Amino acid sequence: MTKNVRVRFAPSPTGPLHIGGVRTALFNYLFAKKHNGSFILRIEDTDQNRYVEGAEQYIINALNWCGIPADESPVNPGKYGPYRQSERKETYKKYAEELIASGNAYYAFDTAEELDFHRKDHEAKGKTFIYNWHNRLKLSNALSLSEETVKAKLEAGEDYVIRFKSPQDETLLLKDIIRGDIKIDTNILDDKVLFKSDGMPTYHLANIVDDHLMEISHVIRGEEWLPSLALHHQLYTAFGWKIPEFAHLPLILKPTGKGKLSKRDGDKLGFPVFPLEWTDPNTGDVSRGYKEDGYFPEAMVNFLAFLGWNPGTEQEIFSLEELITAFNLERVNKSGARFDPDKTKWFNHHYMQEQDNLSLAKGFKTVQPELSDIDVNYIEMVVALVKERATFISDLWGLSHFFFSAPTTYDEKAAKKAFKEGTKDILKEVVSIINTIEDFTVENLQTSIKGWITDNEIGFGKVMMPLRLALVGALQGPDVFDIMFMIGKNETLNRVNKVIAVS
Ligand code: GLU
Repeated sequence: MTKNVRVRFAPSPTGPLHIGGVRTALFNYLFAKKHNGSFILRIEDTDQNRYVEGAEQYIINALNWCGIPADESPVNPGKYGPYRQSERKETYKKYAEELIASGNAYYAFDTAEELDFHRKDHEAKGKTFIYNWHNRLKLSNALSLSEETVKAKLEAGEDYVIRFKSPQDETLLLKDIIRGDIKIDTNILDDKVLFKSDGMPTYHLANIVDDHLMEISHVIRGEEWLPSLALHHQLYTAFGWKIPEFAHLPLILKPTGKGKLSKRDGDKLGFPVFPLEWTDPNTGDVSRGYKEDGYFPEAMVNFLAFLGWNPGTEQEIFSLEELITAFNLERVNKSGARFDPDKTKWFNHHYMQEQDNLSLAKGFKTVQPELSDIDVNYIEMVVALVKERATFISDLWGLSHFFFSAPTTYDEKAAKKAFKEGTKDILKEVVSIINTIEDFTVENLQTSIKGWITDNEIGFGKVMMPLRLALVGALQGPDVFDIMFMIGKNETLNRVNKVIAVS
């Protein structure tokens, strides 16, 4: 690819970023990096009614946490700024006027009540009201009214909008990298509002003007924007601007595969739909985030990459670097991508194993109050022994508490299984063997205890099961000799003696 790749992620700061938005950002990032291009974050905040405090910062934090920061953004501006549309407000009006001058747009004065009347009237007749070529001459606008009337209305400060004049009887040929060629009959399009008398552009105008001024080469965005493509295409043509390439990413579907994934699905099935925790500034409601739920950003990036894309091979584990190399838009699917919460855990389990034990130990120590006085190197060794079974740092305590404190209860079922006639005597023998071991290593423990079992032809389980129960309180955990070594000779003897005393 010879042309300079510049892509943008253009969220509206109306709340926390849904994982679908993070997926869009990720695909833009991967595409940009693959082609040595730039990834731009533009905040589309022209709709002040929907503006939510803190949402922009949240978006930036989420991208940073995922390791996919923008090359140009409101906090890291390049030479195409400002990167917030509210700060570009002055830019848009002249473009709206340019379209009026070229006959591609017109002033309209219909009030909200009038439009509502038409809408309801059509509905009552089983029709849909579309403001376009077939009725625009019957409505209140610069095409139906005289020039003087329009001038007078504008001078009197009447509310107006500027609408795009969608052509009649034309067929548009739109191109989408993922969806191929799309034909659209212009007769079904409505004359969309581009600008309002409050001085604010609508999404459509601001988006096209900014993509042009920011020299965006590829527009990669969610499928929900596909219906806007025809208008955007016409706007580029009307301005005489080069049309960027488009790629509309597939929807992310509920785990059932039916319908779009929503926050409600997450609440119902117990998984987050946001990258980071979010506190609604108005209601104080807290929504959980992947980060706070214990996901590693590598896992999040990896599972998001597979929502709508696949490499065409069996490989599922990809680092960000590997994704950059493997990613291409041609391998993005048209059909919706089913979200599978179990698969996200599978990825996290994988990345949990990849983490270094010391950093896991540090993380474990901060979340588990019982560990505050424990040497981090000891925790690190424990982590190494149990992490294989952990998906999250929060799983570690359940898998390892017996390395830090003696069991206070014994699992009843396990006790029934482990304690039979003669078990007490066996354990007493084990105690005397342990007492003889000076150098308390895993090897020495193994040799002495296993040797004694074999010499006396006692079933292995008859010794190891009650021993495990004494040390852990249940029939679970890593190798018994590892546990003994880790807790040390004294503590091992205490625990075995205790179980002898209570059994
Ligand atoms: N502001 C739009 C959004 O919230 C941007 C859509 C686009 O990428 O064109 O998603």
